[in-house]
Amino acid sequence: MNIREVVIISGKGGTGKTTLTASLASVAEERRILADADVDAPNLALLLNPRETGRQPFFGMPISEVDREQCTGCAICEKACRYNAIHVRDGKAVVDEGFCEGCRVCLHVCPERCISLKTIERGIIRRGNTALGPLWHARLYPGGENTGLMVALLRKEARKEAEASGASLIITDGPPGIGCPVTSSVTGGDFAVIVSEPSRSALSDLRRAAGLCGILAVPFGIVINRWNLSEELTETIKETCGNEGWPVLGTIPFEEKIAEAVGAGRIPTVEMGDALPALWHGIQKTGRLKR
Ligand code: SF4
Ligand code: SF4
Repeated sequence: MNIREVVIISGKGGTGKTTLTASLASVAEERRILADADVDAPNLALLLNPRETGRQPFFGMPISEVDREQCTGCAICEKACRYNAIHVRDGKAVVDEGFCEGCRVCLHVCPERCISLKTIERGIIRRGNTALGPLWHARLYPGGENTGLMVALLRKEARKEAEASGASLIITDGPPGIGCPVTSSVTGGDFAVIVSEPSRSALSDLRRAAGLCGILAVPFGIVINRWNLSEELTETIKETCGNEGWPVLGTIPFEEKIAEAVGAGRIPTVEMGDALPALWHGIQKTGRLKR
């Protein structure tokens, strides 16, 4: 079974990315798996109300730990650490967990062999059943790190389930921005939908998101959400897309009824009208999604 993976991203938060993800999933006719890769601020579950069927802890990369009893305070580890993550205080080495990259250099240079690696639970990965199909979602604990790794594990679980269940489609709600979790969400995907909106920062956000897709060699198209909030800025976005050769997949208007549906915790499938299935069919005809 050829599994196709669509990820919905945006250059910044607040563009309606999660609502569009759920709405597109609601009109996709094939068997699908859903994933929320916005592990810093997961919201897809709020719209889909999953009935939880499983959970697993996320540990991230190991970091170093000092056996204070054995430490002589020689500071060899402090001098060797390139990440400024271990310091001798009051005669004992102390690890700053927020800076430690787990590179193991300190383990090798410590003459007392009193440094080891430990893993810390940094988040939770969950699976639940929803009306639109299984949902894999995750939450990073405050101060947690390794978001890219967490997203990679989440996508791996979604793909494993797609392979086992015969689902042919994975729809992923990606994180905003262009950082590590976004890169991890888009890498290896079949198509990225970039959600933009007519705001002052939209063009630079769009350029950054499109640039990332270009670097990762993932085909993409643009949806302009709430286009009627500024017809002038919408035209500017369209013009830029035309000049750059970026396909505009469709536009969605701002309408009270859509906002009310989302406010009430409903997916605005009906409220978006015919534009939604047309948008989804357009997405399916593009790039690596073609059949
Ligand atoms: S594991 Fe690497 S980053 Fe962490 S304290 Fe040791 S040397 Fe520094
Ligand atoms: S190298 Fe080992 S003994 Fe020396 S300060 Fe670091 S942890 Fe302590």
